[in-house]
Amino acid sequence: MSKAVNRHWVSRWHSLTTRQAVLTFVIALIISIIAGLIELLDDVRVLRADIQQQTGRLLQLAGATAAEAAFQLNEELGEQVVSGIYNGGDVSRVVLRDDFGRVMASRETIGEADSGALLRHLFGDITDYHVPLTYDMGGGRAAEAVGELDMQLSLRVIGDAFLERSALIFSLGMLKALVIALLVVLTFHVLITRPLLRVYTAIVTVDPDQPGNWSRPRFRAHRNDELGSLVQALDDLLRAFQKGLDQRDELHQISTIDGLTGIPNRRRFDEFLARQWLDSRRQKSPLAVIFIDIDYFKPFNDNYGHGVGDDCLREVARALTRALPRATDLVARYGGEEFVCILPHTDLDGACAVAERLRLAIQALAIPHAWSDVDDLVTVSMGVASAVPGRAGSWSQDDLLAAADRRLYQAKQNGRNRIVSTDD
Ligand code: GH3
Ligand code: MG
Ligand code: MG
Repeated sequence: MSKAVNRHWVSRWHSLTTRQAVLTFVIALIISIIAGLIELLDDVRVLRADIQQQTGRLLQLAGATAAEAAFQLNEELGEQVVSGIYNGGDVSRVVLRDDFGRVMASRETIGEADSGALLRHLFGDITDYHVPLTYDMGGGRAAEAVGELDMQLSLRVIGDAFLERSALIFSLGMLKALVIALLVVLTFHVLITRPLLRVYTAIVTVDPDQPGNWSRPRFRAHRNDELGSLVQALDDLLRAFQKGLDQRDELHQISTIDGLTGIPNRRRFDEFLARQWLDSRRQKSPLAVIFIDIDYFKPFNDNYGHGVGDDCLREVARALTRALPRATDLVARYGGEEFVCILPHTDLDGACAVAERLRLAIQALAIPHAWSDVDDLVTVSMGVASAVPGRAGSWSQDDLLAAADRRLYQAKQNGRNRIVSTDD
């Protein structure tokens, strides 16, 4: 990932995935706590019914033997019944009494801790049992009361069972919440966060000069959903940007090209010179200019016609451009039948050599000019100047142009078809 991506990227705690994970977990946890409470209430009902059913069965089983023991006043049998009940259930106290209310046998858990209010509220009403004992004498006589059996269930044992079940229900709920959160987060990450990250990376790596060439993410699975629409909208936007930039470049290109000759115009010359001046100053390198003017072009035009004059200008422009193949050099039409060259990293001697090459290139065109006083072909005069921008005592940009112009004038004065590179 590029530096830009890191600079803009959100911290882990602010990431969508993290926030969504925390939120989902909290929501799932709240839901499972509520569901656990409802389940627990139902569990209390089931637990109560179970306890009552089991206790009923226990008392029914032990009741007959207890009545037998009470009828016979058989304390040994009574002891057996009472221990059977005490050991067979979650019992904290059992008492067997005979018909006179005397205790025949009893068992009690010593030091039974006081149970909490919640447990008493939930189960307190089903812990105490009082069973009157009757004995059937046979012979058609009514059953006779022979004693009573009192029993109390241990609220602590019931509470332990209840707590164990609660713990199980809540830990299962927590596990469910975790699994749900994990699944939702995974789905969210795969479906949304990861593709969003790819879109983000693609956007921050867009080349501002070539926005239309962005590496558009391809989501086969999201072609028809919001993410697909987002990418499409971004693509449309970046293409529109690109179109605007292309139009701007095209307009700039048009505005810097001379309509007649197709070579750079005066505006382009000004821009190029300003930039080269700064570069040369930075590099302490010489920068040369050559002013070129066609000799006796007015009589050429007047006699051969404007159309032939235009053709001549085009040919001269092409010849000059061909003779300057270095990419760093520039030939421009300065105006009318004047041309200008900019030669970076070129001192006066070098510029004179180039100027001579240009002069010969024009001569080699061999364009007839019967109205020229210097030759019977089209010729040019040139003024050459070079300076090291920024050097102490050296010329300014305007000085350089003025010197080249002055020397061109001098070349005209000296008889044309020549190059002047000094002021004397
Ligand atoms: P000199 O040797 O002193 O330069 O003489 P000259 O006749 O070339 O000088 P001058 O600058 O007086 O003439 C320039 C002529 O160039 C004037 C005009 O007829 C012609 N000219 C300028 N621009 C164009 C153009 O775009 N097309 C054509 N055909 N002729 C042009
Ligand atoms: Mg002129
Ligand atoms: Mg001229």
